[in-house]
Amino acid sequence: MKILHGIGASKGIAIGKITLCLNIDNHIEKKTIIDVEAELARLDEAKKTSVEALNAIYAKALKRVGEANSMIFQIHIMMLQDEDFYGAIQTAIREEKLNAEYAVWQAGQQFSEMFSQMDDEYMRGRASDVIDISKRLIRNLDTRLANGLDSLSSPTIVAAADLMPSETVQMDKEMVYAFVTQEGSKSSHSAILARTMGIPAVVGLADQFNELSDGAEIIVDGNTGDVILEPDEATRTDYRAKQEEFIKHQQELKLLKGTKAITKNGVEMEINANIGHPEDVDLALENDADGIGLFRSEFLYMESNQFPSEEEQFIAYKTVLERMGGKRVIIRTLDLGADKQVPYLNLPHEENPALGLRAIRICLDRQDLFLTQLRALIRASAYGKLAIMFPMIISVDEVRQIKGLVEKVKNDLTKEKIPFDPHFEIGIMIETPASVMLSDELAKEVDFFSIGTNDLTQYTLAVDRMNHSISKLFDSRHPAVLRMIEMAAQSAKKAGIWVGICGESAADTSLTEFYVKIGVRELSVTPSAVLELRRAVQQIDIK
Ligand code: PEP
Ligand code: MG
Repeated sequence: MKILHGIGASKGIAIGKITLCLNIDNHIEKKTIIDVEAELARLDEAKKTSVEALNAIYAKALKRVGEANSMIFQIHIMMLQDEDFYGAIQTAIREEKLNAEYAVWQAGQQFSEMFSQMDDEYMRGRASDVIDISKRLIRNLDTRLANGLDSLSSPTIVAAADLMPSETVQMDKEMVYAFVTQEGSKSSHSAILARTMGIPAVVGLADQFNELSDGAEIIVDGNTGDVILEPDEATRTDYRAKQEEFIKHQQELKLLKGTKAITKNGVEMEINANIGHPEDVDLALENDADGIGLFRSEFLYMESNQFPSEEEQFIAYKTVLERMGGKRVIIRTLDLGADKQVPYLNLPHEENPALGLRAIRICLDRQDLFLTQLRALIRASAYGKLAIMFPMIISVDEVRQIKGLVEKVKNDLTKEKIPFDPHFEIGIMIETPASVMLSDELAKEVDFFSIGTNDLTQYTLAVDRMNHSISKLFDSRHPAVLRMIEMAAQSAKKAGIWVGICGESAADTSLTEFYVKIGVRELSVTPSAVLELRRAVQQIDIK
């Protein structure tokens, strides 16, 4: 038995066997081979296995989701058998003497690049399919890389270097007891994803990650960050009891559904949920959230091979608004850049991406994209109680530019006789020290502030939120951060606008009383933390 210590990123306890999912892009090796024929035979064998697997998946999907939705697997089989693609791999083995794994990976990259530049939308959509089939071939060539997040077939504990949002999207949640990762910190987006899914997670294991092996039994304690390798019987029994206790606690919290978050002295708080996908509304409703306090719209962009169209976005926003049935839904405009990249945006390499071209800076730079999103959002306002929020603001000028564009879209829609709600709220995220310092002026421009404590902590303390080696310094309770929050709250109060918090520390119940005292009236947290926070509010009594 061995105990490893990481960062507890999503609460809960899991006991099970590890499935080691190595990221192919980081582990692919380039080798020179001698026996070309043997390498070609290996490739043929991997292709045969891949086609068999795809046929089996197709047959299963046909029964479950019908012909139209299963067609994709037939397309994958055809692509695997495509002369050009397969021929390019064979040529690289024959002429460049490359190992089959690398030859496949290289052809996958080349063909994907080629597809993504085609004019035809259908063909552009094939760019990700060619990557999928390449990965399938590689997994059948190299046993080290055999497991993928998208191919889990029985419930397991996933161990991965990091969780890429693009991979977790394809993952079957039912198959995952817990996550353990080498990279990441409490406020990295992989940790946020795990919390949203309500799956226990320990992140940032760093070098200790190398101790994990495929199939080994482990216990993951997402509360403490402990990972116990090959536990003995006494430890297993101990953790089973802890697991039951945790489940009991969760059941007790369920009794709070239908109650309100009102302090003993009568202050009412709005406890909302943070989501990344329209489907996460299920989790928000299941946990009885008062509304959606942060819909990170960039995930729509990250799951796609190209910019989602106005219509696609409109449907996603409308779905969330309708399903929340008149409760407030705050949708944040796209916050790409830094750790959230999409290849089709073609952002240049940056030395300091967290300080680079990201979020509202991209939107004001690429106004065509921004206007498309604003149109989709404002059209969706007709279907519920929408509020639009803008990230990474550092100046009054940015807010005025944004408001000008919002007015333009409203005018266009009016001329086109497209319905929308003219009274939707506009707010900004307070997540840069500049926005705090200017909060008195910014408050006069908008309807609300939502404090993003993840980035506000990062920028106030100059501590990278992604860097696990300094994760101890990443402290959202640091006095400098708390003073920033208080200053923004005071500015909001003076201007008569409401202020909320949507960063991860909104869920820190040791800060709830402080937040209530300084005038914060909305807290938005991962869905699974809503009821715990409601209970914390109900216990507060400010004399
Ligand atoms: C934040 O920075 O606190 C925030 C809520 O936004 P994100 O975590 O998506 O950067
Ligand atoms: Mg942020």
